Amino acid sequence: MRYTLESMDSQLTGLVEWPVVTELKLGIVQSLGLLLGANILATHVMWLRDSEGKRRQARYFLITNQGGGLTGEGYCLFSQYHQGHSQTRLVRVAICDHKRQGYSTVEEQRRGWHKAKCTECGLDMSVDSGD
Ligand SMILES: [Zn+2]
Repeated sequence: MRYTLESMDSQLTGLVEWPVVTELKLGIVQSLGLLLGANILATHVMWLRDSEGKRRQARYFLITNQGGGLTGEGYCLFSQYHQGHSQTRLVRVAICDHKRQGYSTVEEQRRGWHKAKCTECGLDMSVDSGD
């Protein structure tokens, strides 16, 4: 199972809310550090359906796995007016709150091949740490 921009289209166009939204209370330096440190695909400006049901312009930084595929998770940067002030916010969004379950044999693990999948959505979460 894999995620694509098309399979997350309803969330990325603000048609529906993301199933998992985590508020990040970070300063600008921490936020930039987070985005620099992650393996991400930055999108052009898209949309976010917020918890009040409003559609807001947003830029996504979608997390990618070892092979470059999307994991259904990311960070979303958007602005909103709150009590007369424009407020820029960074939240973590996800299609699924992944639960990793490994299923490699001992021999595969020895070679650095850690096969795994999410027990909730079936996402392939395998990691190859061998060379
Ligand atoms: Zn999952």
